[in-house]
Amino acid sequence: MTELLLKRRAEILHALCSGGSVEHLERVIDMLLAQGELGWEDCQNVLVPGRALYSNARQLLDLVYTKGADSCELFFNAVKQVLPEALGDTFFLSGCHSTLDYKEKPQRTSTEELLTQRPDLVLKLQGCIDGALRVLVESGHFSPTDCDGIQLPIYTPSQQARRLLDHVRSKGESASLVVLQYVQQSLESESSLEQTNPSLTKEFVKYQKKLRSSVSAQSRFLSTYGGTSHMPLDDIYTEVQMELPNNSADNYKSMGFEEIIGPVGSVNDDADTVLASGEAGSGKSTWLQRLHLLWSQGKALQDFLLLFPFSCRRLNSEQRDLSVQELLFQHCCWPDRGQEEIFQFILDHPHLVLFTFDGLDELKQSFADEHRICCPSQRAPVDVLLFNLIQGSLMKGVRKVVTSRPEAVGPALKKHLHKEIHLKGFSLSGIDCFVRKHHSDPNEAAKVLESLQANTALLGLCHSPVLCWIVSQCHKELLGCGEGSLQTITDVYLMILQHFFQHHSTVKSAMGVNWLQENLGTVLHLGQLAFEGISNSSYIFSVTDMETCGVTESDICMGFLIQSKDMSLANSKCCEFLHITLQCFLAALFAILSRNTGCSAISKLFELQEMKKKRLRGTCFGACLNSTNIPNIVKEHSTMAETPNLQITATFVSGLLSQRYQKLWIQCSSSVLVEKKTKQAEKCLSKGMQQHFRSIPQPVQGEKKSMHAMPEFVWLIKCIYEMQNSRLAKDAMSKLEAEHLKLTYCNIGPVECTALAYVLQHLKNPVGIQLDNNSVGDVGVEQLLPCMHICNSLYLRNNNITDEGIHKLIDKVIHLQNFQKIALFNNRLTDACTKHFSYLLKTRQNFLSLRLGNNNITAEGAKQLAEGLKFNRSLQYLGLWGNKIGNEGAEALANALENSESIVWLSLVGNGVGSAGACAMSNIIRNSTSLEELWLTENCITRTGVESLTQALKHNHHVKSVWLKNNDLTSAEIEEMQQTDSRLVF
Ligand code: ADP
Repeated sequence: MTELLLKRRAEILHALCSGGSVEHLERVIDMLLAQGELGWEDCQNVLVPGRALYSNARQLLDLVYTKGADSCELFFNAVKQVLPEALGDTFFLSGCHSTLDYKEKPQRTSTEELLTQRPDLVLKLQGCIDGALRVLVESGHFSPTDCDGIQLPIYTPSQQARRLLDHVRSKGESASLVVLQYVQQSLESESSLEQTNPSLTKEFVKYQKKLRSSVSAQSRFLSTYGGTSHMPLDDIYTEVQMELPNNSADNYKSMGFEEIIGPVGSVNDDADTVLASGEAGSGKSTWLQRLHLLWSQGKALQDFLLLFPFSCRRLNSEQRDLSVQELLFQHCCWPDRGQEEIFQFILDHPHLVLFTFDGLDELKQSFADEHRICCPSQRAPVDVLLFNLIQGSLMKGVRKVVTSRPEAVGPALKKHLHKEIHLKGFSLSGIDCFVRKHHSDPNEAAKVLESLQANTALLGLCHSPVLCWIVSQCHKELLGCGEGSLQTITDVYLMILQHFFQHHSTVKSAMGVNWLQENLGTVLHLGQLAFEGISNSSYIFSVTDMETCGVTESDICMGFLIQSKDMSLANSKCCEFLHITLQCFLAALFAILSRNTGCSAISKLFELQEMKKKRLRGTCFGACLNSTNIPNIVKEHSTMAETPNLQITATFVSGLLSQRYQKLWIQCSSSVLVEKKTKQAEKCLSKGMQQHFRSIPQPVQGEKKSMHAMPEFVWLIKCIYEMQNSRLAKDAMSKLEAEHLKLTYCNIGPVECTALAYVLQHLKNPVGIQLDNNSVGDVGVEQLLPCMHICNSLYLRNNNITDEGIHKLIDKVIHLQNFQKIALFNNRLTDACTKHFSYLLKTRQNFLSLRLGNNNITAEGAKQLAEGLKFNRSLQYLGLWGNKIGNEGAEALANALENSESIVWLSLVGNGVGSAGACAMSNIIRNSTSLEELWLTENCITRTGVESLTQALKHNHHVKSVWLKNNDLTSAEIEEMQQTDSRLVF
C-alpha cells in the first residue's frame, strides 16, 4: 500500500490540487481526523497557512506514508470518497474498502461525536452557519467576536464550518451538544421543506443552501474597510442614484432590485442582460454586492432559486477552456453531490437562475459577438462563454446582471441588453446618510458634514462613493485641514495615503523628515506594483508579482492591499488594491517619484489617445520603464479597462505635479527630474487641447462656430484643474475660437463642473455652454458659477437640478449682462423656483429665452412668472411644455404677455390647458406685435377655445402658426376649422 502511494504520488497530487482549491485536501483530512488516523497536531503540520497548496498536499502524503500501510489504505479510501471519478476505478486495489470504515469506538461524549462525524457535519453546517452561530451565541458559548472570526469573508463556507467545529471543540462538551442538536433540528426542517416543495430534490436543496451561504460569506463585509475594520455591508450601505436612460420619469429615483431586473425601462424584451454602468468608484461593485447579500438573506429576488456571482477581474486568471457547468461549479460553488442533476435543473429552469458579472470592463478581452456557441457542454475560453451568456445564445432565459464602466459598453453589447441603468453615486442626502452611518459618534458626523458644507468643491467630490468613503475615513485629517484646503481629487487621495501611513506608524518621525520620505520604500514598492498592473491590465497580484516589485509583508500591512477574494481559490495569497482608483494613484506616484521612470512615461500616459489612433495601443507603455529589474511587459490584446485607468492615472500625475506639491517631492526624488516631468505633463496637456480644438469643424454658413467636445476634452480639462495651473488654462482658452461649447452626454457631474469652470473662466469671448444630459445637479450648478460671466446661454436639460440650484444660479447671473438664455427641460423644478425667475425677468431687460419644460410647475408658478413678465421687455422665448399650469396659469401668463412687444415663441404644450386658457391666449394673438409661434398641442382645448383663437388671428399677421394637435376636437371639427385659417395646425 505504501508503495502504491509512492507510485501514484504525482497522480494523487494532481487530483487533489489541480482545481486550485484546498477543499479536496481539507475533506480528506476531515475523514482521517474522524477516523483517528490524524491528530490535531498532524493537521497543523499539514495545513500551513500561506504555504502553497501542493506543498501542503505533499506534506500529507509524506505523513501517511510514514504512518504505514493502514494509514495509506485509509487515505486511499478517503480520496476515493472525495474524488470518486478523478483517478479512475483502476486506481484502487481490489480489497480496498469502497466505503470508509470508521474505526469502531464507543461514542461517549458530544465532543467525540463532533470529531467522528466531522466530514458529515462540515457538509451539513455550511448551509446553516448563521443559524448555528446564532444558537451558540444565544446559549452563551460564543461571543460576537468569536462569530466574526469564523465568518471572515476570506473563508469558504466549508472552511467556516471547520473553524466553527474547531472553536466549539475548544469550548467543551455543552457547546458540542448545542451544535449537534442544532444540526439534527435543521435536518428535520429541511426534510419538511422538501415535502412541501417536492420538485426540488434533496441534493438541490443542499446545493442551494451551500450556494446561499457562500454568497452570503462573500458579500457580508465591504472590502475597502478590510485594512482597518470589518464593516458589515448592512451597516454602511447607502442608496445610490440611478438613471434609466430611456425613462426620464424614473431618473434618479432609487430602484429596488426587483424593479431593476423586471420589465420597467426595458429596451429589448428578448434580451436577458441588465447592465449597470458607472464611473470608477460610483459604487457598482458595492451595489452588486448588496444584491448578492439581499438574495442570500432571502430579502430580495427570491424568485431566483440560484444566484451565481462572478468577478470578471478574477475570471481573467482562468486560462483553461471551460463548459458552462464547469464555470458555474468551479468558479462559484461546488455541489458535493448530484452535479449532473443540479445542472439539469438549471438547464430546465433558466428563469429561476440569475448570473451576475462584476466589472465587465476589467475583462482582458473586449465584448465580441463573433464566436457563437450554444451548447452548454461545449468547452470554450472564459471570455467566449461569458459573451455568449450575455448575448443569450447560451443559457437563454437565465437573467444576467452585469456591471461595467461606460467606456466598455459599445454598440455590439448594447443590442443584447434588456436595459441599461446608470449608477450616479450618492445624492446630497445620500452623502449625509453615508457620513452618519460611517461615524458612530453623531458629533463627529456633524463636524464632517459641516466641513463639507463649507467646501462645496469637496462636497462635489463626495457624490462619488469612493471619495465619500475616503473623506469619512480621514475625518481627523479633514477636520485638521484649513477650511477649503482640499479641492482636488489628488488632494483627497494624498490625504488617504497619509492617513494609512500615520495609522500604522508607531515611531515618531525624525526631525525634518516628512511622512512621505519616511514611507518612501513602501510607496515605491506598491507604486511599482500598481504601475505595472495598470500598464499590463493586471489587478490581482501573485506573491511572485509582489516579490518582483520588492513588496514586503510590512508594505502589505499598510492596508492598501487586500487579499483577493475568490470563491474557488480561497486560500491563495493573491492581493489586489483596495480600489482601482487607489491603484491608479499609487501608479501615478511611482511615475513621478521613481528615478527609473523618465519623461517618456509621462508623455505616453497623456498621448494615449494618439497611440490609439495609430493602433499602437498599449504596446509601448511598459517600454517606458528604464530599469532593468522592471519587466518590460508587452501586451498583445487590448483591454477594455486600459484607457480609463490610464486616464485616471494621468489625472493623478497632473495633480501630483502641481506646484503646490513640489516641496513634498524634494526630499523623495530628484528635483531636476520632477521638474522635467512637470514640464512634460504641461506640454502634453497643452498639445492635447490644441489637437482637440483643431478637430472642430468649420461652421456651416450662418451658424455659430460650435465645438462638440469629446470625453477626452473633459479629461484634459480635469487634468489642468488637478494641476491647479491657471496659466495653462488661460493659454489653452486663448486658442479656443468656438462660440458654442457642446458637452452633452459627457458624464459631467459636480467634479467636472468645478474643473470646467476653472478652465472656461479664462475664455476671451462669451459662449453658449450646452451641458444637456449630464449629472450636474445643484452642487454642479454652484461649481459652474465662476465661469458664468463668459456664458451667454446655458443649457442644462436633464441634469437633476432642483429649486435650490436655481436659487444660487440666479443670484449670480442676475448681475451678469452676458447671460441671456437658459434651458432647463426635464429637471426637478417646482413652483419654488419661479420667484427667482420672476426676479430675473424683472431685473434683466436683455434676457431672451427661458425654457422650463417637463418640470413640476403649476398655476401658482405660472402666476409668479407672470409677475416678472409684466415688467420684462426683452423675453422672446418662453417654454413651459409638460408642466401643469392649467387654465389658471395660462390666463395669468396671457394677462402678462398680452401687450408684449418681444415674445416670439410661446409653448404651453401638455399643460392641461382648456378653452378658457385658449381664450386668454387669444388676447396675446390679438394685441402682441411680436408673437410668431404659439404651441398648444396636447391640451384639452375644445371648439370654443379654437374659435376664439381663430377670431384673434383675423386681426394678426405676425403669427405664423398655432399648434393644436391632440386637443378635445372631433375630426369633423378639425376639418371644418382647418378651412378657417391655414396657420392653425391640427
Ligand atoms: P465601483 O465598482 O463603481 O468602482 P465600488 O462599489 O468599488 O465602486 O465603490 C467604492 C467604495 O465606495 C466602496 O468600497 C465603498 O467603500 C464605497 N461605496 C460604494 N457604494 C456604496 C454604497 N452604496 N454605500 C456605502 N458605501 C459605498
